[in-house]
Amino acid sequence: MSTGDAVAARAPAKVNVHLAVGPLRADGFHELRTVYLAVSLFDTVTVRPGSGLSITVTGEGAGAASGADLVPTDRRNLVWRAAELLADSAGVPADAAIDIAKAIPAAAGLAGGSADAAAALVALDALWGTRAGLEDLLQLAARLGSDVPFSLVGGVALGAGRGEKLSPVLARTRSHWVLGIAGEGLSTPAVYGELDRLRAAGRVPGGEELAAEGPVIAALRSGPAAALAAALVNDLQAPALALRPELGRALRAAVDAGAAGVLVSGSGPTVAALAEDEQDAVRLAAELAGAGVFRTVRAVHGPVPGARLVG
Ligand code: ATP
Repeated sequence: MSTGDAVAARAPAKVNVHLAVGPLRADGFHELRTVYLAVSLFDTVTVRPGSGLSITVTGEGAGAASGADLVPTDRRNLVWRAAELLADSAGVPADAAIDIAKAIPAAAGLAGGSADAAAALVALDALWGTRAGLEDLLQLAARLGSDVPFSLVGGVALGAGRGEKLSPVLARTRSHWVLGIAGEGLSTPAVYGELDRLRAAGRVPGGEELAAEGPVIAALRSGPAAALAAALVNDLQAPALALRPELGRALRAAVDAGAAGVLVSGSGPTVAALAEDEQDAVRLAAELAGAGVFRTVRAVHGPVPGARLVG
């Protein structure tokens, strides 16, 4: 969008339809094999000329809206770091007034912060005329966080390393989901920590053998929903459930409502319920909205493109 001097970009939330977590590495990260699916829930980042950096946040997770100041407006915001990194690498001053309109709930396992950072890179690149190519932006994105490169490219991709080593996957078959969003966020590091504890106690497999992503990719390519449902994997589901036992009720509610498949999204606590088709997603969303276990539900589809200028 270009209204006067404003430039806007939007970026999607993601669901990890396959998330296999290896053992803890020496650098404190876990080796992942993940399949990302970008879904149609978008944050929009609007940037304008400014003096220094400033950030305002509206919508989901904004302090005033939720009563809980989940999304910081200072340098702790990933968007702030994205702006500094782009300015630094391009040799321009980091001057911009940035507004983040959030539809993606924070700390929900939907990569909202990563989406904002990716959208900010695209919008600021246009505002500042820095003309970074996709390869340059991908390198900056990987320095910002494991999920930021995927937020830039969107679609479907296989992620290795910490998730930042991406290979695009051609899968045009659309799948329909209902996201059930719980009241309170879960910290991603806390969920990985709980996985390490469960593994040390021998309560879940140690991660030496990672589940193969072939079945989920085949199902994303050609459907049907039942095949995709059968192939869903999330090694973070057990630790998320251990930290948040009421998630069990939420998963059961989705099964009882007739979801074709169900899993926790990323580190949770969002529950992703797979629908048969678009119409079934509308039905499932209405049923889950009335189940009394979610703060809010959203019917979405994927794949959708990554961070793009809008307007
Ligand atoms: P992921 O699935 O990528 O691990 P998530 O979706 O669970 O992450 P985010 O919404 O990215 O979590 O937010 C995680 C934390 O990051 C928040 O609790 C918040 O303090 C911080 N944060 C920094 N910048 C942002 C932002 N722009 N939007 C949301 N949270 C942000």
